[in-house]
Amino acid sequence: MQSNPLLIRNVQCAVENGHPPRRIDVLIDRGTIVSVSEADSAVSALLPQIERRIDASDLIVMPGLVNAHVHSNEAFERGLYPSLPLERWLARSYPPLGGPDVPARWHYLRAMLVACDAIRSGTVALQDDFLNPGCDHAALDHVVEAWSDSGLRVSVATTLSDRAYLDGLPHARASCELSLARELDSRSSLPVAEQSAFFVEAHRRWNGSSSGRIAIMLGPRGPQRCSDSLLHDVARLSRDHGCAVHMHVLETRLQRAASLTQPGGGFIHRLAQSGLLSPSLTINHAVWVDQSDIQAIADSGAFVTHNPLSNQRLGSGTSPVRRLLAAGVRVALGSDGPATGDTACMSAVLRAASLLHRDPDSPASEWLGPHDAWQMATQAGAGSMGLEDGWGSLAPGAPADLVLLNARHRALVPHHDTVAQWALAGGADLVDSVIVRGSILMRCGRITAFNEDQLLDEAREAGERWQRQIWPLLEQSGARLDTLIEPLLDRVRREELPGTG
Ligand SMILES: [Zn+2]
Repeated sequence: MQSNPLLIRNVQCAVENGHPPRRIDVLIDRGTIVSVSEADSAVSALLPQIERRIDASDLIVMPGLVNAHVHSNEAFERGLYPSLPLERWLARSYPPLGGPDVPARWHYLRAMLVACDAIRSGTVALQDDFLNPGCDHAALDHVVEAWSDSGLRVSVATTLSDRAYLDGLPHARASCELSLARELDSRSSLPVAEQSAFFVEAHRRWNGSSSGRIAIMLGPRGPQRCSDSLLHDVARLSRDHGCAVHMHVLETRLQRAASLTQPGGGFIHRLAQSGLLSPSLTINHAVWVDQSDIQAIADSGAFVTHNPLSNQRLGSGTSPVRRLLAAGVRVALGSDGPATGDTACMSAVLRAASLLHRDPDSPASEWLGPHDAWQMATQAGAGSMGLEDGWGSLAPGAPADLVLLNARHRALVPHHDTVAQWALAGGADLVDSVIVRGSILMRCGRITAFNEDQLLDEAREAGERWQRQIWPLLEQSGARLDTLIEPLLDRVRREELPGTG
C-alpha cells in the first residue's frame, strides 16, 4: 500500500445517456479514498498541497475490474488446440498420465504475463486458481512472488483432489483398456493429509502478505475428482482458516452426466451436504446447472463466476447467467486460464459477457448488456474475493482501486456512455492508468509496477523452450487418451440430460 497521499485533480466521472461529465478531485490516503469534491469548488480549494498528484483533465475515473477466475499456469499455452472440447484439451494441458516438471522460475514468468494482461485491461484484483496438484512449494513461492511484484490484489488457490482420473469421467472405467487404466491409476493424488498440510502451510506463510494484497484460498478440483470426505475436509479448513473456496462445478455436459451417475447425488447437493455451499464458496462456470441447483446456490449465498470466452472456445455451452441473476445469485466475471480464454484481458471478457446473453426468444428487456457485465466485473467479483465494503463506488471510505480511462480516445468520440463504450467499442485501449490501494501500477499506458520489456524478453525465451521441450510431450500424452474420451463425449451427447434447458 502506498502511504503517501495521492490527489487526482479535475478528473471526469463516467457518463451515461450523454450527460456532460462531472469533474471531481479525488484524494487518496493509505489505500482509501478520503475525499471526493467537485473540481474547482470551495472544498477543492481547501485541499492540502499534495506532492503526488495526477492532473487528470483528459481522464475518466472508474472503479477497477476484478477477474474472478484465471489460471496463471496456462500462460504459455495461448492459442493452442483452438477447437478441442474441455476433456480432450484437459488431457493435454493437465496430463493425467503425468507431465514433465518445469523450472520454478517459469511459474513466476507465466503469472507475470497474466499480470500484464490484467493491468493493461484495467484489472486491479484477480483470483488465480493456480493448478499445483503435486503441492510443489517452490512453484507456489514463485507464483506468490510474481503477484507480489505485480502490485495487484490476488487470491491464490492451492489444489486438492483425491478421486482417480477414471472415476471422474462417467462410464470411463468400464470402457478403458486395462493397461491404460493401470497406468492412469498409478498416477494417484498425494494423500489428502499432505494436500491439507500444504494448504495450511501456504496459508500461514502467504495469507495477508504484501500488506494484505495476497490471500490464499482452497482450490478443490471439480466434485467429480473429490470424495465426500475430502469435501468435508475442505469445508472444515475453510471454516477454521476463514478462507474462500474456489471450485469448478458443472462446466460441461460430461460433468453433468457425472453428477447424475456418481454416488452421493448431484454435485450441488453434495456440496450442500458437505457444508461447502455457503458465501465462502465460488463456483466456476455453472454451465450445466438445473433450476433446483440455481435455487440452492442462490439460497446459500455462494458466488458463481461466468467465463464466456473459455466456455465458447471449448464448446462447453452457455451459462444460464440470466436465470442465475434472476434467482439472486451473485455472478462474477472471469477470463479463465489463458489456454482456454486465450487472454486475461478483462475488457475482452466484458465485451463477450455484454453480447452473449441475448436470446432471440426473449424480449430485449431481459437481455444482459454492458452495464450488467460491468457490475459482475466489479461488485460481484470483489464480493467473491471477500474484498472490503464500498468496492466499486467513488466515495470516501471506498478502496482506492481505480482505473483512469483516456477521455480523448477515438472510441469515446462522441462520449455517450462510458461503460458501454469501454465494453463494446474501446476495450483495453482506453485504459491509461491503474491504481491499486493508492499505488500507481500503470500511468499513460506504461506499466510502472515492474519492467514489462525485460519481463517479456525473459518470458519469450522460456516460452520458446516450453514450446520445444514440453509441449510435444504434453501433446503425445494427451493424444493417447483421445480414443478413451471421444466415445464418452459421443455417448453423453446422445443422452437426454434432464432439467438444464
Ligand atoms: Zn478454470
